[in-house]
Amino acid sequence: MSISENIAAIRQQIDLAARRSGRTGTDITLVGASKMNGAAACREAIAAGIDVLGENRVQEMTQKLAENAYDGAPLHFIGHLQRNKVKQVVGKVALIQSVGSVALLDEIEKTAEKLDIVQDILLEVNIGGEEAKSGFAPQELEEAARYAVSLAHVRVLGLMTIPPVEKQPHGNMPFFTRMRELFVDINQKIYDNKLKYLSMGMSGDFADAIEAGGNMVRVGTAIFGARNYSK
Ligand SMILES: *Cc1c(COP(=O)(O)O)cnc(C)c1O
Repeated sequence: MSISENIAAIRQQIDLAARRSGRTGTDITLVGASKMNGAAACREAIAAGIDVLGENRVQEMTQKLAENAYDGAPLHFIGHLQRNKVKQVVGKVALIQSVGSVALLDEIEKTAEKLDIVQDILLEVNIGGEEAKSGFAPQELEEAARYAVSLAHVRVLGLMTIPPVEKQPHGNMPFFTRMRELFVDINQKIYDNKLKYLSMGMSGDFADAIEAGGNMVRVGTAIFGARNYSK
C-alpha cells in the first residue's frame, strides 16, 4: 500500500471513531509521525493531504527542514526535547507537543522572548506514571498550567500524552478516558474552555483515543510502514 492509500484508509477509520463520539473526521487532526522517513516520504504525505507532520529528533528535523521536506504542511515537534536543543526548535515549528517540565517551559519562554515570538505548545502528561517517560504527573498538571499562563511568550493550546505500551487490545482506554477528564477540567478551570487540542493515539490505538475524546492523533507506522532501526 502507498502512503496516500494508507492515509485514505486511516481517514476512514478516524471518521468512524469520531462518529462514535458525536463528531466527524473533519474534527480530528491527523499528524504524520515521520521519524526515520526521508523528505520524499514527507512530501508524499503532504501531497496526500496529511494535516501536519511531526518529528521527534531535532537533528533529523533540522536536516529535513534544510531539504524543504515539510513545505505545504505545518510541522510539530512531538519527541523528547532536551533543553540544550530548544533553540533549534522554537520558532521553527508551529507547535511543540511535548513540553513536560517547568525547566523546559522556562527555556522555551526565554528563547521565544529573544525571538520576539509566542511559541504554541501542548503540555505533556505522563498519564501512566512511568518512570522512564517525561511529562507532568496528573497531579502536577494544574500548577504547571497556571505557571504556563504567566509566561508571555508561550501559549498552551492543549494536552498531549504517550500512554504505556498496550498489553492487550483497548488496554489504554482507561488512560485515554482519564486524559479527557483532565483536559475538560483544566480547560474549564484555567483556560476559559479555549484549549483546542487533546493529542493522543498512535498507529495501534488512535481509534480508541478518538472515541475517548481525543482530537489529534499521531500516526507513524500505519502511514509510512515499519521503521528500519538497523539502518
Ligand atoms: C513515533 C511516534 C508516534 C507514532 O508511532 P506509531 O506507532 O509508529 O504510529 C506517535 N507519537 C510519538 C511521540 C512518536 O514518537
